Amino acid sequence: MTLAAPLRQPRDTAPEELSGAALRSHARSWLDSNLPAHFRTDRLSPEKPSIDETIAWEAAMHRAGLVGITWPKAYGGFGRSLREHLVISQEIGRTAMPESLNSIGKELAGPIIQAVGTEEQKLTYLPAILEMREIWCQGFSEPEAGSDLAALRTRAERDGNVWRINGQKIWTSGAHNSQRCLLLARTGTVEDRHRGLCLFAVPMDLPGIRVNTIRSIDGKDSFCEVFFDNVEVDEKDALGLPDEGWNAAIRVLGIERATNRMHRAWRFDSEIAHLVSACKSDPRLSALLDDGYYRRRIGASVGDAEVLKSYVETVVEALVSGESIGSRGSLAKLHWSEAHQRFAALAIELLSKASLPHGDAVKAAIARFETIYLHSRAETIFAGTSEIQLGIIADRILQLPKGK
Ligand SMILES: Cc1cc2nc3c(=O)[nH]c(=O)nc-3n(C[C@H](O)[C@H](O)[C@H](O)COP(=O)(O)OP(=O)(O)OC[C@H]3O[C@@H](n4cnc5c(N)ncnc54)[C@H](O)[C@@H]3O)c2cc1C
Repeated sequence: MTLAAPLRQPRDTAPEELSGAALRSHARSWLDSNLPAHFRTDRLSPEKPSIDETIAWEAAMHRAGLVGITWPKAYGGFGRSLREHLVISQEIGRTAMPESLNSIGKELAGPIIQAVGTEEQKLTYLPAILEMREIWCQGFSEPEAGSDLAALRTRAERDGNVWRINGQKIWTSGAHNSQRCLLLARTGTVEDRHRGLCLFAVPMDLPGIRVNTIRSIDGKDSFCEVFFDNVEVDEKDALGLPDEGWNAAIRVLGIERATNRMHRAWRFDSEIAHLVSACKSDPRLSALLDDGYYRRRIGASVGDAEVLKSYVETVVEALVSGESIGSRGSLAKLHWSEAHQRFAALAIELLSKASLPHGDAVKAAIARFETIYLHSRAETIFAGTSEIQLGIIADRILQLPKGK
């Protein structure tokens, strides 16, 4: 596959006709034959995918029927069931491909636009997300409003046919590469808290928007601070009703914690298999695999990944049966982030004991697991910290009395 291919191409398969095992087999063989070697994070490669290559790759995944699986066909999707989405997520999870550049568009903005957007907004935004013509970022957190999102201060004031936005967002992942921002801004007063908030689909090239990148511990410019100085957003880019932004935001966060990135459970599984295979390639690490201490810890991670996989499958079945996600996404988010962080620390600890000089398999594993380890530090923070998930589980699932 040529990655520099133009984005708006005809679809290269007829995936609508495939189902069940045939769909799984299509996804597996397409990924195996098309994923470029230098995208694979389990191999040593001097070259990293560029933004243009990533955009072309994700657009190709969409043409192959592996993205927008449950979205209606009218908006560029494939109109399939959540169970079929799960099958494809499992296949994506078993490959060592990088996370999507447009996961905010595909997994947060897309579902919320389908829930609260007008027909015109759906036709405008949704195909552009799937075809990778528009990459989205999420402008929720502010310097004084993270866990307590209802404290946010960025203001949106009505001025004729536009909303005038003033304020600052922070930790906005990928804002510097984005064409649109899913912005949560205040239309009422700070004292209104949950009332008087609105969601916007803000074009990132509007005058008055300034983006500064923030370097993260892994040396990447992963997130940004975004300043809005009298930015005029057309009224057609307001999503949902002006005072309904909080309810829409809570739905976004519910989706973020429960059904998006379902592939993570199967990726976790394949990371464990990668660590074990790298250890087997090295005499000292092979010996450690026989050590009861490390066997128990690897076994605990295998158990964690199994729990997570069955949890994802349970949530999918519940949704297919018409039940709502409710607060249950908090259980999956808490379990995945804490368990993955423990596993990443174990991987780094084990690999640090490899024989010298390192063989290629160990070198590749060190490069991959160092990145995973550094990123895992953030996993218990983004999409709601572990303490916030514990609070939600205590209040809404266990209905424990509130502490003082
Ligand atoms: C890698 C990464 C990417 C991110 N990407 C985005 C993005 O794209 N868009 C976006 O809008 N945001 C993003 N965020 C921000 C993220 O949502 C916030 O960091 C998170 O909500 C926590 O907010 P905070 O950093 O302000 O911490 P605070 O809310 O100030 O929390 C500080 C500490 O106090 C604890 N705490 C706070 N309140 C309570 C409570 N009620 N009970 C118990 N403990 C509490 C927290 O658990 C935490 O340990 C990202 C964060 C990271 C790390």
